[in-house]
Amino acid sequence: MKAIRIHEFGGPDVLKVEDVPEPSPAAGQVLVRVRAAGVNPVDTYIRSGVHAVKPKLPYTPGLDAAGEVEAAGEGVTRFSAGQRVYTAGSLTGTYAELALCEESQCHALPERVTFAQGAAVFTPYVTAYRALFNRANARPGETVFVHGASGGVGTAALQLARAAGFKVIGTAGTEEGRAHASEQGAHHVLDHHSENYLEELTELTGGRGPDVILEMLANVNLNRDLGVVAKGGRVVVIGSRGAVEINPRLAMTRDAAILGMTLFNTSPHELESIHAAVGAGLESGTLRPVVGRELPLAEAARAHEEVLKPGALGKIVLIP
Ligand code: NAP
Repeated sequence: MKAIRIHEFGGPDVLKVEDVPEPSPAAGQVLVRVRAAGVNPVDTYIRSGVHAVKPKLPYTPGLDAAGEVEAAGEGVTRFSAGQRVYTAGSLTGTYAELALCEESQCHALPERVTFAQGAAVFTPYVTAYRALFNRANARPGETVFVHGASGGVGTAALQLARAAGFKVIGTAGTEEGRAHASEQGAHHVLDHHSENYLEELTELTGGRGPDVILEMLANVNLNRDLGVVAKGGRVVVIGSRGAVEINPRLAMTRDAAILGMTLFNTSPHELESIHAAVGAGLESGTLRPVVGRELPLAEAARAHEEVLKPGALGKIVLIP
């Protein structure tokens, strides 16, 4: 089968298409024929060797995919050949024609969700859900500010927050991104490159500030977030690409909490409950993953360049 292989950590050019032997499922494992694989920023950090997660070389990247069960190993009870699934991680990597998974890494993909959309589920939706409900403990009726709403996690956060009864405010850096955020559930959308957008945010919340901030670029925004968050508010750091200086007094005066979060820290128990919620949303149509671009598997290097560029619009997926 064809798979993307990485033999050394480095730039996008280390992503090579190769022929590798087809894996076969042992007991408790599921082999998935990948119809689409999701590309996440974290795949690029791992590829470059700077991430805490350092796979043994060579490896095939990717956590997110959707496809059909090709074969199920002995003792697998939830899946059989032909079933549509999305993956939440895998044993062999998802940038490939086949991905070997533990049974617990596979989840049913409802008929109404395409494979490309299915490849946009795990990292974005589980991250957004966990940040909003498990870390921020957000309660319907509160105001949620999605600081970076045009990309994968932001889109998921908007849909989840809107469906659950929050007042939702998002940001994007382009006009297309702002139109997208508005379509995906934001009651108001601001431009995170404009000079006074945080003043507009304060006005939109009647001077109070948002109760919850889901932050996609903390190294740029964290200190400013602390200056606008409501009293008793929570800032969840989802994304950060460097260091930032903050004034702790801003957090003191607001009784505000800064909450870090990493998808990789999600416990199996939490995962089970989040997948149940996400699965129900996919089935009912409340959650509708948005695919901005589909690229052939062989263009994984280009996908890694694109996913870090400004002007996000939903997800980038690779088609084997
Ligand atoms: P993405 O699809 O590439 O989207 C990036 C988002 O950040 C876009 O909405 C982009 O908006 C926005 N952005 C750019 N400049 C910004 C600024 N100055 N202020 C606020 N937002 C800004 O990436 P993603 O998959 O949504 O992930 C978002 C971030 O979270 C990434 O850094 C990723 O590594 C991280 N992440 C962390 C976890 C975790 O476990 N903690 C899980 C998933 C993702 P425009 O392009 O419209 O400017």
